[in-house]
Amino acid sequence: MQIAIDGPAGAGKSTVARLIADRLGFIYIDTGAMYRALTWKALARKIDLQDEEKLYELACNTEISFTKQADKQNVICDGADISDEIRSPLINTNVSIVAAQPRVRIVMVKKQQDMARMNDVVMDGRDIGEQVLPGADFKFYVTASIEERARRRILEMKKQGFASDEQSVRQQIENRDRMDQERELGALKILDDAIVIDTSSLSIDEVLNRMLAIIGEM
Ligand code: C5P
Repeated sequence: MQIAIDGPAGAGKSTVARLIADRLGFIYIDTGAMYRALTWKALARKIDLQDEEKLYELACNTEISFTKQADKQNVICDGADISDEIRSPLINTNVSIVAAQPRVRIVMVKKQQDMARMNDVVMDGRDIGEQVLPGADFKFYVTASIEERARRRILEMKKQGFASDEQSVRQQIENRDRMDQERELGALKILDDAIVIDTSSLSIDEVLNRMLAIIGEM
């Protein structure tokens, strides 16, 4: 079984995706973390983020996997745990540039499809319902107002020890959404067969219960 969850930045996709996966005993695949890991490696190697050929080569030669630890999922890139590094403001501002390169996306989509092949999965991202798992049993589009998404992101950053102000966080989210919506391949969009869930005024439990009811597991 495959559950696809797409939506803009900070809408609460990963939190609810992880909870659904735990509840159903499925594997959770955070595809955003994969683009973040690649961006982290590209920046560490001082690769020009507009250089599609170099990024394509890098994507082909990068191993990304996940390990589960209590209620957290660790992101392993070429054997190193970079779970915290990929959540930095520097990665936030650069990840959509890397993710816009069509050849990079082709490699990443293939890796994601390989991960999904042998397992029941919940996968979240931007192009899951359209490109990665077009035959998914359920396709959700999880969204929230820009104000609410900025508020949540600020709380998250505070927890990680990063200072932030509302204006710049909001701007950063809007920039990222625009880049994710306007790229040529794998653009974020609401599919005709997607179920839209607006989480602006819902608690995590309410979102979870609504989605589980649709899946038929309540
Ligand atoms: O979900 P998250 O915010 O961690 O994703 C980080 C970035 O990775 C997105 O803004 C987008 O540019 C890229 N991404 C993507 N396709 C996906 C998942 C994430 O392009 N399936």
